[in-house]
Amino acid sequence: MRIDLHTHSTASDGTDTPTRVVEQAAAAGLDVIALTDHDTTDGWAEAAEAALAHGIGLVRGSEVTASASGISLHLLSYLQDPTSAPLADAMRATKTARISRARTMVDLLAEDYDLTWEDVVAQTASGATVGRPHIADALVAKGIVHDRSAAFTAMLLPTSRYYVRHRAPTALEVIDLVLTAGGVPVLAHPGAEQRGRVLGDVAIEELAEAGLVGLEVHHRDNSPDQVERLAEIAARLGLLVMGSSDFHGTGKPNVLGENLTDPQVLAQVEERGAIAVVRG
Ligand code: AMP
Ligand code: ZN
Ligand code: FE
Ligand code: FE
Repeated sequence: MRIDLHTHSTASDGTDTPTRVVEQAAAAGLDVIALTDHDTTDGWAEAAEAALAHGIGLVRGSEVTASASGISLHLLSYLQDPTSAPLADAMRATKTARISRARTMVDLLAEDYDLTWEDVVAQTASGATVGRPHIADALVAKGIVHDRSAAFTAMLLPTSRYYVRHRAPTALEVIDLVLTAGGVPVLAHPGAEQRGRVLGDVAIEELAEAGLVGLEVHHRDNSPDQVERLAEIAARLGLLVMGSSDFHGTGKPNVLGENLTDPQVLAQVEERGAIAVVRG
């Protein structure tokens, strides 16, 4: 069983439609994927239809933006009830906050580069959750940088003068919202040091006490040292060990199935989740 529980589509900042993500997962020989777009469940229905058509399993989820002592964090939520209002409302609020944040970043970039908000809108699928990757794509389309990675390195990281934060619930609040919705909360790429500061052991212990279920230990943004540290924390706290690609389509080097999650771990996620895995 090959299981990859973290992917993105055009419902957020991936470059492929939910159907295309599922088609490529099937072609790559994956048995189960999760669609986890940022702060939305909008891709679920299309992905579920495609999973049924292509005979693969689909875990419906979201990647929920959170903040913790000034750090931006991502919490994966798996198999939550999408009609649970507290989580749906929080994600909608974050989605809205992301628009004004992106506009402010574009205003700052426009002081130095030939970039407009319309350029970013042109790179964003209708209704998608806006993020820095869309600004990166606009910079690429304008010939200002040559790819998404170069845009991040040069001007979109938290250390850049063009970087702007947006409001998001705290990680403890997100865990609460996810659990209330019957979802399974997992801390995404907890060792991604090149994205900004990461949580220390004590902070992760606090999240575990609040009901965090798993850690995304195997992810390309966690360095070997971080993988070792996170595996030790997961073992000590009894957290599930997840491995995922964080596929974003052609915009990022991440390849579907480059990291995998064990079937026994998926079984535990499914047992805890409020909704079923779609089985094609
Ligand atoms: P945002 O949601 O606006 O905070 O942007 C976060 C998204 O940017 C994540 O989904 C990442 O996939 C992407 N991202 C973060 N760092 C980089 C990077 N160095 N290169 C390319 N994409 C990145
Ligand atoms: Zn993303
Ligand atoms: Fe993330
Ligand atoms: Fe992601």
